[in-house]
Amino acid sequence: MKYISTRGNAPAKTFTEILLGGLAPDGGLYLPEEYPQVTRAELDAWRKLSYADLAFAVLSKFATDIPAADLQAIISKTYTAEVYNKGRADSDFEQITPLRTLEPGVHILELSNGPTLAFKDMAMQLLGNLFEYALAKQHDELNILGATSGDTGSAAEYAMRGKRGIRVFMLSPNGKMSAFQRAQMYSLQDPNIHNIAVNGMFDDAQDLVKAVSNDHAYKAAHKIGTVNSINWGRVSAQIVYYFKGYFAATQSNDEQVAFSVPSGNFGNICAGHIARMMGLPIGQLILATNENDVLDEFFTTGQYKPRGTAHTYETSSPSMDISKASNFERFVFDLVGRDGAKVREFWSKVEAGSGTADSVAFDIHHTPYWDALQQFHFASGKSSHYDRLKTIRGIYEEYGVMVDPHTADGIKVGMEQRRPNLPLICLETALPAKFEETIVEALSCKPERPAALEGIEDLPQRCVVMDADVVKLKAYVSANITH
Ligand SMILES: *Cc1c(COP(=O)(O)O)cnc(C)c1O
Repeated sequence: MKYISTRGNAPAKTFTEILLGGLAPDGGLYLPEEYPQVTRAELDAWRKLSYADLAFAVLSKFATDIPAADLQAIISKTYTAEVYNKGRADSDFEQITPLRTLEPGVHILELSNGPTLAFKDMAMQLLGNLFEYALAKQHDELNILGATSGDTGSAAEYAMRGKRGIRVFMLSPNGKMSAFQRAQMYSLQDPNIHNIAVNGMFDDAQDLVKAVSNDHAYKAAHKIGTVNSINWGRVSAQIVYYFKGYFAATQSNDEQVAFSVPSGNFGNICAGHIARMMGLPIGQLILATNENDVLDEFFTTGQYKPRGTAHTYETSSPSMDISKASNFERFVFDLVGRDGAKVREFWSKVEAGSGTADSVAFDIHHTPYWDALQQFHFASGKSSHYDRLKTIRGIYEEYGVMVDPHTADGIKVGMEQRRPNLPLICLETALPAKFEETIVEALSCKPERPAALEGIEDLPQRCVVMDADVVKLKAYVSANITH
C-alpha cells in the first residue's frame, strides 16, 4: 500500500515513511492510493473478533510495510483492558470501546476509557507504540513539539511517556486550562515529558511552535516533529472503532447504521468516511458542530468559508472550537474524484483566505460536485450552548447517563438528522469528568470522577513557566536534548 498526496504533486510513500512526518512536500495530506476493500466474508469473520484482533485485521490493510508479527505485537500491547479502564465503573473494559444502549436503536460508543478520558487516546496510544518501534528500527529519535489547550496535549503526553527515543515538549497557555487539565499534564514525572506553560493565550503558544517549525535548519538539527491531527497513523487507528461499533449495534452485516460524530478537525469523521469507503455498511455519517459551524455550512450549502482565530468562538465544547478543519482536505480529495489539481485550486483560496467571516474559499453548489456529495451519505447540523445543556439534562433524566458537552452536541444533531429505522451510534468523545463546570451548569451536580483520577490535583506538578519568546523556547529545547 502506497500513500499519495491530496495535492497530487508528491512522490508516493509507504506507511512507515509517512508515520513520523506531517504534510506531504507539496503541502497536501497523505491518503492511501486506493482504499482497501473489505469483503463480505471478511466482515462476517471480523464480527467475532476482539478489539485488538479487529485492529490488527483493519490496520494490516494499511500498514503493509510493517511485518505482520511486529504489527500484531504493537497492537496487542496497545489495546488492553489495563490501558482502557479509566472510564465509568460499570463499563465493560474488555470491549475497549463498549457500546452503551440508551434505548433500542440509540447507542453511545464509549471511546473515552483511556488514560486522558477522551477519544484521542484511541489513536494516540497506538501512535506512541508505533513511533517507538519505527524510531528503534531507524536508530533515530524524535522531539515532539506541540501546543495544546487541553485534550490533544495530554493524550500525546500519556501516549509518549517513558517511550525510548521520544521526548515531548508541550506548550500550554499559563493559567488558562482547568485545574483538572493542568493536573493531568503537569503531574507526569517522566523525564521525557516537558511541560511549558507560556505566558499568553493558546494562540501565542501555537505561534511559538510555528516559529520553531519554520526554522527548517533548527527543526532538522533537533529532530523536531509533531503529532497533530493530520497524522495518518491517527486517522487509520480511528477507522477500527467504526467497525467495532457497527458489529456491536447490529445482528448481521446486512444491516446499516448511522454514526453521529462531534467534529472539530474532521479527523474522527474522516475515519468514518474511510470505513464506509472500505465497505462498512454505514447508511449515514452525521457531522455535528458547535457554534463554530463552518463544516455544517459546507454540508448544507456547498460553501466552504473557513475562518481565522479572530472569528472562532470560545464555547463550552472547546475541543470543537475550530474554524479551519485540517483533515477536511482529505474528504474533499475524494469528493472531487481525487483530482489533485482541483484540490490545489481550492486550497490556494483557503490559504489566501482573508479570514473574515464571509469570505468564500470555494462553493460547490450548482457544480457536479454537489451531486457527488450526496453519494457520500453525510448529514450535518449544529448545537449551541443552550442545546448542549438541554441535551445533557435530557439524557441524564431519561437514561441516567451523564454525557460530556461534546458528546451532547453529537447526540443532539444525531437525533435530529437520523433516518428512521437506522440504528444511531453516537460517538462519545470525552467523559463528563473533564468538563465539570458545564456539567454543574446543566445538572447542578458534579460528574463522577473515575477512581484512578481521584485527587489528581493534589499530586506534585512539574512544569516550567516561560514568556512567549522563541529564543528562550529554542534554548530550553536544546538544553534538554541530551545524548
Ligand atoms: C478532538 C475532539 C473532538 C473533535 O474531533 P476531530 O477529530 O478534531 O473532529 C471532539 N470532542 C473531543 C472531546 C475532542 O477531544
